[in-house]
Amino acid sequence: MKSQSQLIAKFGDPYKDRLGFERKWMVLWVVPANIRAAIPCMPAKIYLNKLILVPLEKTLRKLIEAGLHEEIKTWDGCFNIRSKRGSSGISLHSWGIAVDLNAATNPFRGKVTWSASFLKVWRDIGWICGADWSVNSKDGMHFQWEYI
Ligand SMILES: [Zn+2]
Repeated sequence: MKSQSQLIAKFGDPYKDRLGFERKWMVLWVVPANIRAAIPCMPAKIYLNKLILVPLEKTLRKLIEAGLHEEIKTWDGCFNIRSKRGSSGISLHSWGIAVDLNAATNPFRGKVTWSASFLKVWRDIGWICGADWSVNSKDGMHFQWEYI
């Protein structure tokens, strides 16, 4: 995984220069109607880092193609400047390169309800799945993008 200093070197520090970071990296993605039709919990627009726009759309389309999209019950956010859960580091949500799904049923340090096939689609495209983390940092709701 990328270190915090690597992420700051790439994107800047959103705590110190939020506006500069947002101007350079953040975009408003209008979620295509056919994705929203298949996954009704998806918002109409998602404010995200432009680096994850293509992989996120590709992942959602692959899930739909494979009939795995029905596992997604709630969209629980992307961009949010905050520290990591259970640690003092900067959360990858602070750079808009992580998304949370089904937070209520896949809580931090709790159980993971995703099927193996669902998680494989994310991994194969290049996401790091919080579901794969060790018990103290397990975060089933969380998917992060580190091809930066
Ligand atoms: Zn998360």
